[in-house]
Amino acid sequence: MIRKLNFEYKIIIIYLLLGGLWILFSDRLMHSFISNTELLTQLQTYKGWFYVIVTAIFFHFYLKKYLIKIRNAELKAKESDKLKTAFLQNISHEIRTPMNGIIGFAQLLDRDNLTEDQKQSYINIIISSSNQLLSIVNDVLDISLIESGNIIAKSEVVNLNELIDEVYLSLLPTINSNVSFEIKKDLSNNKSIVITDKSKLRQILNNLINNANKFTKSGRITVGYKLKNNEIEFYIEDTGIGIDPSLQDKIFDRFTQAEVEITRQYGGTGLGLAICKGNIKLLNGRVWVCSEINKGSIFYFTIPYKPIKENLTREVLNSSVKTLNSNKVILIAEDEEFNYLFIKELLKKSQIETIYARNGRQAVELCLQNDNINLILMDIKMPIMNGFEAAQEIRKLRPNIKIIAQTAFAMVEDRERALNAGFIDYISKPFNEGQLLTLIDKHLS
Ligand code: ADP
Repeated sequence: MIRKLNFEYKIIIIYLLLGGLWILFSDRLMHSFISNTELLTQLQTYKGWFYVIVTAIFFHFYLKKYLIKIRNAELKAKESDKLKTAFLQNISHEIRTPMNGIIGFAQLLDRDNLTEDQKQSYINIIISSSNQLLSIVNDVLDISLIESGNIIAKSEVVNLNELIDEVYLSLLPTINSNVSFEIKKDLSNNKSIVITDKSKLRQILNNLINNANKFTKSGRITVGYKLKNNEIEFYIEDTGIGIDPSLQDKIFDRFTQAEVEITRQYGGTGLGLAICKGNIKLLNGRVWVCSEINKGSIFYFTIPYKPIKENLTREVLNSSVKTLNSNKVILIAEDEEFNYLFIKELLKKSQIETIYARNGRQAVELCLQNDNINLILMDIKMPIMNGFEAAQEIRKLRPNIKIIAQTAFAMVEDRERALNAGFIDYISKPFNEGQLLTLIDKHLS
């Protein structure tokens, strides 16, 4: 029970207990051995002093231990507060910059007499600023998902060599002009096929390569992997500004950036490496850095090497039958019309026909009227009738129809809730062309 008491009550109780016990037993002890009253009075004084000194020593050690704990906690809180303030300042700047680009150039687009080239360049700026903004929102969401344990890693067949090629090709155009970009693969194509989470692995590589590029004005960036003791060890090596040894562990903590001046010069939110670390942990790996100021850095991370058998690999890889050119019908239930228009635009090149429902109720009615619908893309949050209710109603009419949930929430429980509610799959917004087409292809085949 004493453990539950506040510190100040504990001190008083201990003090009173010790005092009481001391008075009781010391008096009895003295009276049983000494009968001389003069001596007894003198000893009372020494007894008092003894008690004061012993309790002072006891409280000194007890309080010291407690105060050290409090001071450390205070220091940590202050540090975290400072980090959060710096983060908020940074993020506000990081959000405002692309926002300015989007608002400014959208207004310019409204002007008359613009040439086609001008329009195109304004549109390009708006798209790239939007992507920048989206990546910040994604980072903030990712870190909160990782820290709340709300994210799970998938197990899928991944060809590491192909993935590295893909990452290389997608990032090559963004690499600084004075920097050469190289990739090195340790395993043959067959042996490089493993089970891991492809999108997480791609995200980690993208993040580390983007960082390498950000902090390397000239020289070389090399990305590769080696098989070591049943682990794949990836490395991202650069010849950039390097990182001070005292900060090499800290930069993996959220909001932490190596130096304030560097932050100003290079921008960023200090979330990238914390997300990488979280994702690598999800893949059952480790991450660390070796770096020297002004020479460069090598970021290493591992994932377990779980190869899969070659014939099985072929089967899985060849199984993506292209169904997008067949005459299929998809019902898209979505309250935001521009989201529907976006999906329709992505499907324009295919033979797929789309039917539009603005809410869950309409989706149910359209299902009643059209028995040729092959697949439903169902938004979850909709007015009048939400996606869960609509799916339930539709299932009563057409028990075997495939319904895919689409939502702007990217929490694990949303995904699980959707899958438990009978949705066949789940896609979180925003999605890109590749993600949508692969998903549709998978379920129409
Ligand atoms: P951000 O890049 O958004 O600031 P990160 O978490 O990705 O956040 O990186 C944290 C810090 O680590 C960076 O601000 C930078 O100081 C340092 N850092 C990361 N990668 C490198 C690198 N390749 N070279 C030098 N410093 C780096």
